[in-house]
Amino acid sequence: MTLDAARTIAAARKALTDTLRGAGIYSADADAKLLIAAALDIGRTELMAHGDRAITPEQVKAIDALAQRRLAREPVSRILGHKEFWSLPLDVSEAVLVPRPETETIVEAALDFVVRGGLRLEVLRVLDIGTGSGALILALLKELEQARGIATDISAAALAVAGINAERLGLTDRVTFIECNIADGAAGPFDLIVSNPPYIVHAEIATLDPEVRNFDPMLALDGGSDGLDAYRAIAKDARRLLAPGGRLVVELGAGQGPAVSTLFSDVGLKVSGIRDDLAGIPRALIAMAAS
Ligand code: GLN
Repeated sequence: MTLDAARTIAAARKALTDTLRGAGIYSADADAKLLIAAALDIGRTELMAHGDRAITPEQVKAIDALAQRRLAREPVSRILGHKEFWSLPLDVSEAVLVPRPETETIVEAALDFVVRGGLRLEVLRVLDIGTGSGALILALLKELEQARGIATDISAAALAVAGINAERLGLTDRVTFIECNIADGAAGPFDLIVSNPPYIVHAEIATLDPEVRNFDPMLALDGGSDGLDAYRAIAKDARRLLAPGGRLVVELGAGQGPAVSTLFSDVGLKVSGIRDDLAGIPRALIAMAAS
């Protein structure tokens, strides 16, 4: 049955799942549930519990409008306008990278440093370079109740999204947003610096999934001809910005550990560890000022 002909929630679910799967979308089943629940403005539990409930032609139209966007490879999180990160609900817009699960590795590595150092209740000064939706800084400020944060982004539109997220999470009084390149507008020193910089090799952008290449902002992806431009800029500023004993934790693209380690060592930083993500890929590089 096609979606047009569907007269119940269950029929619409089956039709949309089949259509998405037929288009080569692996997450067809989950996507269909999320999109139909959004179109009908009901929760997923309700959706599952009331498969036999009738839907109107207008509701079918509403589902179809969302389905067309997904078929054009727009990610579900962008269609819905939000994405969960570190169990926090975050708004996303076309101006920000959709936060990825692997970026939670940066939060874990940063918290690991804080907890091991017995610094959890200190008034830590935290900097997030290229904050986008605010995912990293907001997750850290949620966990570290005394910490204060500065978050930069070159995109005013991204900072607007981060600001909305900070407000929703009740964190506006502990975070300041600065519109600037890398950390040009930040004075420091900081006890903790985190960043998920753009790190895709320019020539490889065309090979990424359409969900990424057509919908994530280029500013958040493009790392220049070798993918390392942003790390170079961060390295240049790191000594100035890091407090004694502080840590810099950056996300890595696959295979970038050795090159970023070398870049950082060259400016007098000491790489103290690399943490894998859940897929076993080295993802968070931790560095400190060499004494
Ligand atoms: N994680 C993104 C991707 O590969 C890239 C994000 C980035 O460049 N920081 O899809």
